[in-house]
Amino acid sequence: MSRKLAGRVVAATHNKGKLAELHDLLGPSGIELLGAGDLGLPEPEETGDTFVANALIKARAAAERSGLTAISDDSGLCVAGLDGQPGIYSARWAGGGGGDFAAAMARVERELKGHGVAPPWRAWFVSALAIAWPDGHVETFEGRVDGDLIFPPRGTAGFGYDPCFKPDGHARTFGEMTAIEKHGLPADGSQALSHRARAFQALARACL
Ligand code: IMP
Repeated sequence: MSRKLAGRVVAATHNKGKLAELHDLLGPSGIELLGAGDLGLPEPEETGDTFVANALIKARAAAERSGLTAISDDSGLCVAGLDGQPGIYSARWAGGGGGDFAAAMARVERELKGHGVAPPWRAWFVSALAIAWPDGHVETFEGRVDGDLIFPPRGTAGFGYDPCFKPDGHARTFGEMTAIEKHGLPADGSQALSHRARAFQALARACL
């Protein structure tokens, strides 16, 4: 039996794009989401070798430091023709900090062409969500969305690698979609679109 999420929750992320998306997803459930940056929480080193391991490191660190329940997302873009890279190193390919995603997307394109991989360039986004309670209890959830990489990237919405990712069954990239379209969270509970919204649906089923 999963534990229920309620009240004030710290989002263990310093990434403004992810914080905004977690707000969109958790806001309607009446959860008051605080940013790790607002509480002055440090960013722990992501030493795990999976998305789930890194999400747990961030959520546990924030729960321990704040004494509040913490939620974190570890996510990234996996490219089939690059053996799943950049994967857990997606932020690092953009140089860390706010990141230079134009450069990171250009690197993905360069490496695909350099390895002689022919299009369609298959890829998938993964989101691992972890919730850590101050007493040490944790819950984790994963979501994935598959699609093709499009170069040159298209659109200015979203963040990170959104402009070069076209999800299956859609004509536009995530960078050309509104946040509501990108999440595609249907009210009837059928499958959402984005990896984060899919992970969130699993979380909602268990913990809301
Ligand atoms: P981390 O989870 O903070 O280690 O960073 C994940 C990185 O993956 C982000 O900085 C983005 O570059 C990329 N990423 C994760 N989710 C998305 C998304 O929804 N759209 C675009 N890029 C994403």
